[in-house]
Amino acid sequence: MLPAISFQLPAWIVPRVTLPAPIPPLEAGGWKLEATMKYYLWTVGCQMNKADSEKLAAGFDRLGMKAVDRAERADLVVINTCSVRQHAEDRAYSKLGRVRDLKKERPTLKVAVMGCMVGLKTGELEKRFPYVDAFARPQQFGPVMALVEEPAEDMGGEFWPTTYAVPEGPTAFVPVVHGCNKFCTYCIVPYRRGREKSRPMDEIVREVGYLTVHGVREVTLLGQTVEAYGHDLAEQPDLGDLMRELSALERLERIRFLTSYPKDMTHRILKTIAELPKVMECFSLPVQAGSDAVLQSMRRGYTIGEYLEKIAEVRALMPNAGITTDIIVGYPGETEADFEATCDVLERLRFDKVHVAAYSPRPGTIAHRTMADDVPQAVKAERLHRVEEIEERISREINASYVGTTQEVLIEGLKHEQPFGRTRTGRLVHVDAPARIGSLVDVRIEHAGPFSLRGSFVDALVLA
Ligand code: SF4
Repeated sequence: MLPAISFQLPAWIVPRVTLPAPIPPLEAGGWKLEATMKYYLWTVGCQMNKADSEKLAAGFDRLGMKAVDRAERADLVVINTCSVRQHAEDRAYSKLGRVRDLKKERPTLKVAVMGCMVGLKTGELEKRFPYVDAFARPQQFGPVMALVEEPAEDMGGEFWPTTYAVPEGPTAFVPVVHGCNKFCTYCIVPYRRGREKSRPMDEIVREVGYLTVHGVREVTLLGQTVEAYGHDLAEQPDLGDLMRELSALERLERIRFLTSYPKDMTHRILKTIAELPKVMECFSLPVQAGSDAVLQSMRRGYTIGEYLEKIAEVRALMPNAGITTDIIVGYPGETEADFEATCDVLERLRFDKVHVAAYSPRPGTIAHRTMADDVPQAVKAERLHRVEEIEERISREINASYVGTTQEVLIEGLKHEQPFGRTRTGRLVHVDAPARIGSLVDVRIEHAGPFSLRGSFVDALVLA
């Protein structure tokens, strides 16, 4: 039985959702004022950013605001940014450039920028984009919510956008530990998202219980290094303890977790994952490089030998586990031999998916301060291409090995009227028959493409 949970709006929330003054309809673009305030929320970056946006959207929805899919139709535009790569920053800058034109046409439009670009760069952003009404760091919802509501005085000016964000589909992201203590030399996350801070276990269980009552069947537990969960809490539970508690929720079918850090992934946690039927055998375990020299220079805290041992441990406990990884090519000082070592690891471990990026120095990081970006762009591009080729070939081979097998699939939605979902190992499957979203079904895999599988039902296991 689920615990009886009551979810009420905090008394201190005072909605203020009407527009301050009537705005004439625009001639061009067809924008027209309506009684309900409309928001456009644009997000780039990791799952943590997406979870922040979901939370913010739930806060807006609670106030009666309406989501729209174009900035042109919105009264409030929020740009949720990422600093991990230059490309992500460039996309945010381009978006902000377009919003400036809208603000010129319609000065009452509210604009907020949040996420990892805010913090070190706020002064620079304020100068470059003076028309932005609010800047907010990751998870700092207050300045954005202040554009649409006022907190009661006894909250000391603090805001919290919502109790829990309920997504439209049957899957949800649930942050369990924020921030990171690792300080890998190339990474900006610890500076922007702060140090590791775990959420209390009872709060997470309550949130997931609430989500399941509202149709969620699968949750992905999020952390920059998710196995760090709990070490800063009084009782010091680990990720396995949290998974055990969540497994007891009757309506929850599946539990995923992102992103793993090899040193934090203990045998105890791995055994718990293997034991609990609701926890998916689906790992995201970044290796970043195959050479000890590069790993040491990145301050990743493990050797390639230790990484290989960790994968061997995962596969000994869960032979069919799906494992994805991240690779950086062209890190400062990476030689041809270092890069060959990375290719060798990819061939040996045969990951289900490889997320590869060319190194780009991020201001504020140790690598940016102390290392020359000395691998030429052309060499980076060539190495990137080589990794993509290896990845595509292996992924195609792994997909082909699924043909003829039966896989448990959670139906997540419809694409061109056709149901799709994922296996317990995280593979995307399209199903050739109608199915209810949120149902857990057995699918016989009949066809494998480079990026997804296709099949038909064997039998329905559970209907939501
Ligand atoms: S573990 Fe390293 S790469 Fe991952 S978020 Fe922390 S500092 Fe960044």
